Amino acid sequence: MYMGDHIVISIGVAAIASRVLKLPFLHVAVLFMLANLIDLDHLINYHLDDGTANSMLLHPLHMYSTYIISTFLLIGLIRPKARSLCWLFSAAISLHIFLDAVSAMMHYEIPSLLMTSLVTTCLSCFAVYRCLNNKKLAKQVIIFMLGSLVICNLELVIAVYALKIVPQSSFCFWLVPPFLSLILTVIFWKLFCHRNIDTSCR
Ligand SMILES: [Zn+2]
Repeated sequence: MYMGDHIVISIGVAAIASRVLKLPFLHVAVLFMLANLIDLDHLINYHLDDGTANSMLLHPLHMYSTYIISTFLLIGLIRPKARSLCWLFSAAISLHIFLDAVSAMMHYEIPSLLMTSLVTTCLSCFAVYRCLNNKKLAKQVIIFMLGSLVICNLELVIAVYALKIVPQSSFCFWLVPPFLSLILTVIFWKLFCHRNIDTSCR
């Protein structure tokens, strides 16, 4: 799956997780968003990837993600104080891998990806709206999610169709999405860190 969808779904799932687990939404959302930096491993073997490769077969952090997930699950098991952090990070990595697997299953076909993106974006926005206490802030988070989706997809469209960059021959093509994701995560934190943004059900 491409970065815009990863960000949107990460925030949507974080809203549900923070409500169910009674944890601060902003912290959970930032943790889920940071897990998407696993895509930095696309910089390895990028010359073999035309943008539709199955990450689980080509990129090392994706291939060995079960080791990362198992390690954090086990640390959480023996370190109660770090349990929430470790298990949430495992869940965040699992979510990323699951979404990549779904895209690979659809062979990265554009119509299927667009349909999936439409459905997951609607569900994620609905989850944020339902789970956050302050509906005005929930709308601002949704605007951020939609803005992130547009920015990430626009970057991809410009790179492929306007600049005609060939993914297999460009290191930067694979560097920009995770870098963009990191910038959007920092902006997300800066926008909402001083606001009373939390989930209900406390
Ligand atoms: Zn990935």
